Amino acid sequence: MLPESFSFSQASLQDFVACPRRFQLRYLLRLRWPAAEVEPIEEHERRMMMGRTFHQMVQQQHLGVPESRIERGASDPDLLRWWQNYCVYRPVTSFSGDAASASARSEVTLSATIARYRLVAMYDLIVVEPGKRAVILDWKTSDTRTSEAILRERMQTRIYPYLLVQVGAALNCGQLIRPEMVEMIYWFPAFPDAPARLPYDADHFSRDGAFLEQLIERIADMEEDDFCLTSDLRQCEYCIYRSFCDRGIAAGNLDDVTAAYELQEGDVEVDIDFEQIAEIEF
Ligand code: SF4
Repeated sequence: MLPESFSFSQASLQDFVACPRRFQLRYLLRLRWPAAEVEPIEEHERRMMMGRTFHQMVQQQHLGVPESRIERGASDPDLLRWWQNYCVYRPVTSFSGDAASASARSEVTLSATIARYRLVAMYDLIVVEPGKRAVILDWKTSDTRTSEAILRERMQTRIYPYLLVQVGAALNCGQLIRPEMVEMIYWFPAFPDAPARLPYDADHFSRDGAFLEQLIERIADMEEDDFCLTSDLRQCEYCIYRSFCDRGIAAGNLDDVTAAYELQEGDVEVDIDFEQIAEIEF
C-alpha cells in the first residue's frame, strides 16, 4: 500500500507505465542499485551534466544574468552550441509573442490532489498571456528529436497541461485557464528549428483527467506482490535494476536508445523529495 503522503510525478508515473516493478523498486523501496543505466557511462554522464547545466543557464538568463557571463560557463563545445542556438532562436520570446501583458515564469511547481494523492509537476517555463494563452515550454536536451506521436503519449505531456488547467488560475490573474488556451512546446537545443508543438483542448483535458485518476487509483490499490516485471525486455537494457531482476548484466548502448525508451534527463526527479516541496496554493 502507498503511504498517504506519497507524491506522484511524471517521472514516477512514466516508470510505472514502463515497468511496475521499477516503480516499486525506485519510488516505494527507494532501492539504490550500483549499475549503469547505459554504456558508455562517461558519455552518458557528460550528456546528463550538459542537460542539467543547460537548464541552469536558461534559468540564470531568466533571472537577468548577462548572457555573455552565462556563456563563459559553457566549457563543453556541444553545450556551447546549444546555448548559442538558444540565444539565436530565443524560444521564450518567439513562442510567447510580443504581447506586453505576457509574463514568463521559470522553474514553477504545481500540484493537485488526484485520487487522494498528490501529483506534482515541475515546469521549465510557463508563459501566460492572461485570458488568451498559456504556453508550457520544456527544454529537451536529448540527442534525438523525439516525434510528436511519442511525445503525445509521454506522461509529461498528459500531466503538465492538465495540472496547469486544473490549478494554474493564479498565473492567469485568478481566472481559470481554459484547456484551449494551453499549448505544450518541447524545444530541443540540438534541433532549434524543429520544436514539437502540442496544442491542448477540452477533450484532452477530460481524457487526461480520467486516465490519471484511474492510473493512480490502480497503483494505490496494488499489494506488494502486484508490481510485476515488465514483459518488454528492451526496458531492462536501460534499467539500473537489471541484475537485481535477473534480466542481464550488460547495460544497453547509449547510441541505441530510441525515443520509445527515452532515458530520464539526469534522473533529476528521482532525487527530489516531493514530500518536502511545499504545496503551491494556486
Ligand atoms: S530490470 Fe526490467 S523488470 Fe527489472 S525493474 Fe528494470 S525494467 Fe523492470
